Amino acid sequence: AALSRIEQRDGALGAFLTVQGEQAVAAARALDARRARGEALGPLAGVPIGLKDALCTEGAPTTAGSKILTRAAAGGDGAPRAPDPARGFRPQFDATVVARLREAGAILPGKCNMDEFAMGSSNENSAFGPVKNPWDPSRIPGGSSGGSAVAVAAGMTPGSLGSDTGGSIRQPASLTGVVGIKPTYGRVSRYGLIAFASSLDQIGPFAQDVKGAARLLEVISGRDPRDATSLDAPVGAYEAACGRDVAGLRIGVPEEYFAKGIDARVEAKVREAIEGLRGLGCEIKPVRLPHTRYAVAAYYIVATAEASSNLARFDGVRFGLRVEGDRGGKADLQGLYGRTRGEGFGREVKRRILLGTYVLSAGYYDAYYLRAQKVRTLIRRDFDEAFREVDLIAAPVSPTVAFRLGERVDDPLSMYLADVYTLPASMAGLPAISVPCATAQAPDGGPALPVGLQLIGPALEEARLCQAAYAWE
Ligand code: GLN
Repeated sequence: AALSRIEQRDGALGAFLTVQGEQAVAAARALDARRARGEALGPLAGVPIGLKDALCTEGAPTTAGSKILTRAAAGGDGAPRAPDPARGFRPQFDATVVARLREAGAILPGKCNMDEFAMGSSNENSAFGPVKNPWDPSRIPGGSSGGSAVAVAAGMTPGSLGSDTGGSIRQPASLTGVVGIKPTYGRVSRYGLIAFASSLDQIGPFAQDVKGAARLLEVISGRDPRDATSLDAPVGAYEAACGRDVAGLRIGVPEEYFAKGIDARVEAKVREAIEGLRGLGCEIKPVRLPHTRYAVAAYYIVATAEASSNLARFDGVRFGLRVEGDRGGKADLQGLYGRTRGEGFGREVKRRILLGTYVLSAGYYDAYYLRAQKVRTLIRRDFDEAFREVDLIAAPVSPTVAFRLGERVDDPLSMYLADVYTLPASMAGLPAISVPCATAQAPDGGPALPVGLQLIGPALEEARLCQAAYAWE
């Protein structure tokens, strides 16, 4: 059913880069055989789950949305060809989360479109074309995990995995009307996730409802000896938390998240949702997160610095694309690097490599990188303070509903501002969920579009997030 749904709908949406139909059917058949033998099956037995294409899948193309992870098409006429995700890098191993999904019985029908190397907020930075929002195909679905969000929003798969570095699960979940969770940094193994910014990246689930997302999170969470930053803390009972009473839960509302820049209709809907939580017996209190306004600036220093280092490995030698230097052969190694990276990376990725290299360079390191790290600490302390008073924080996810394709592509700063409400929790390493709370019309008209409510919790309190989001939902 998932494969035929992808077949019917995805031509117009672009959520999947590659579909592994045969493998998916074989996995489903194998599961049927086990069921027939009376074997116990896992918690996701037979459930199709889409995978962001930054997750390594054994033997199946994995591109991270980039031309540099594809092999150039054969043919000697020298004419440039559109990059083809089916010619993507084929890893020899599964990411830990992918292995855990398989063990739980999930069926993996395909790899989802994304902004190149997860850099973006609209999915327009994919080397393979944008993803369209099923609520209004003239609009973006959000990014960078836009394909994973749309796979669920359009009913192609009931769940999917994405990654969130500064908002890339929560923001597309909000803009497409599905549930998305960014876990605590270290809750989920990053082994096999193609890295963007290693101190921020986290893998997390998308699903149609909170319970589904909770179940997925439970399957993928937990210590992994292959990721030294994964936490050795017991995995919570996230699904069982759905349905627990929320009366008496203290919810903080940071005024800094309702400052100028937020669309009035979005603000009204989010405030209504918070009143809804009050109606369920939660205690609503104002809290202050005074360093919120530095989050965008600090994030774009830390994230680009780490990206410039992580992306150094794409050099035309080990993976994917190789464009020989002017003189051909091995003697022109610098030429090989330069031409491969010049042709293989898109504009936004190059912009970030340049920015990141600059902020790490001798003479600027203290002024930019070190300072941004200090600001990061201040942002984390804001949350520490707030969580002395409250159990959760409620806020918007995105200052606007989905904007139009093309509207912000030439204005990176306005694109970066799409993340103002998701970046602080990322900088602090905290878990956060986006749960659909209403629809609202965009200022430029069109149909009503989804609005998400963001709940942010203290470290490792994913169960509390699920509890409150489920009660609200
Ligand atoms: N939109 C942000 C960026 O471009 C966040 C992306 C992400 O979370 N991967 O960096």
